[in-house]
Amino acid sequence: MNILVLNAGSSSLKWQLLDSRTEVVLARGIAERIGEDGSSHSYTLGSGAGAEKAKKRSVAQPLARHDEAIVALLAALTDPQEGLLSSLADIVAVGHRVVHGGDYFSASVVVDDEVLATLDEISPLAPLHNPAAVSCIRAARKHLPHATHVAAFDTAFHQTIPAAAHRYPIPLALYDKYKIRRYGFHGNSHRYVSSRAAELLRVPLRDLKLISCHLGNGSSICAIKDAVSVDTSMGFTPLDGLMMGTRSGSIDPAIVTFLQRHEGYTPDEVDEVLNKQSGLLGASGVSNDLRDVLNAQEEGNEQARLAREMYAYSIKKFIGQYMAAMGGVDVIVVTAGVGENSPIMRRAAFEGLERFGIAVDPWRNIEGDKGSGHGEAAGLHGAGPGEFKFSPQGSRVKLLVIPTNEELMIAHDAKSLLVM
Ligand code: ADP
Repeated sequence: MNILVLNAGSSSLKWQLLDSRTEVVLARGIAERIGEDGSSHSYTLGSGAGAEKAKKRSVAQPLARHDEAIVALLAALTDPQEGLLSSLADIVAVGHRVVHGGDYFSASVVVDDEVLATLDEISPLAPLHNPAAVSCIRAARKHLPHATHVAAFDTAFHQTIPAAAHRYPIPLALYDKYKIRRYGFHGNSHRYVSSRAAELLRVPLRDLKLISCHLGNGSSICAIKDAVSVDTSMGFTPLDGLMMGTRSGSIDPAIVTFLQRHEGYTPDEVDEVLNKQSGLLGASGVSNDLRDVLNAQEEGNEQARLAREMYAYSIKKFIGQYMAAMGGVDVIVVTAGVGENSPIMRRAAFEGLERFGIAVDPWRNIEGDKGSGHGEAAGLHGAGPGEFKFSPQGSRVKLLVIPTNEELMIAHDAKSLLVM
């Protein structure tokens, strides 16, 4: 029996097929440029146990809607020659990633007509993300009517954030009318790495004060206490908080009205500048990719150096905030593209915090990345690939790298809600 995980972007659809018992990934793929010219579907069949026999395929095909991408992936999975499934009935559950659950959903749910109606109602809160997910859910229910469909929300994990941390000091009438509040995102990632950290350290999560740093192209930090999210850096939208690849993160909100007055920007133009042209890209003038910015810095580009410093400083400030919010910290986890792969950024973000019990072990920080710090050598028993500790032996605050796995979390929820 298998679980299909679907992650719909506005013009893409990423998918994974997992064995429902072992949770091993059997196949994965991505349909891109949906609804545009040049759409394609690339996938790997058999990427689980028999990795050496995996079949990689990339097919250029017109995909006008997400519905067609679902048809394409189901056809690939049931292909008589090389497909993995003899029948679609082998898919017992589908886990759908949904970015925004508003304040309706504090956990994953089985999708029924009522849930779909609520999702339609919430769509204006995430106009770029939710409509694609909702149309995917509708299409998947049509093509896989026998399966249990589960929606897993990026916001759900953060519904435990207390009002003092999730409300903004704006007029109450505006909150009442639009539900303008902090929702937070990356919830499945923060949930996964925090529970994995507790597992690796062999301490119940409820006994740890933990800060989870998801540092990818989009980035957010989350404070976790008593096993629940108590604050997070993304807010009403994913634009808030940390400096990111192309997003500004927190800036003085008056900059928006200043730009509207002086540059004549429309709301869409402000959105474009702050979401697509800012962050590392805007500050460095080089790239949204930290690797490019670090290379440019090596070549003496001063703007790139400044952008790198701003990026690390932005992370450090949130560590301080959340230590204050929780009255200390026991574990800090970093994950996603930057967190998992950049020893330079890990060092820069955490240096100078020694008096708070936070220190980076230079050897583990670099060797862990190469895989040689794997497991016991890096002070973590039972660590899997990419998981290591980069704080020194005996350090009060444990610093961990844990590769995120949002799809596994979604599959897990789909499995636990499975209606047989
Ligand atoms: P997304 O948020 O799109 O899922 P990822 O988590 O894959 O992003 O992170 C992508 C980012 O990770 C890249 O833009 C790049 O800045 C960063 N990254 C990946 N590998 C490295 C590396 N070796 N050194 C520094 N940064 C890296």
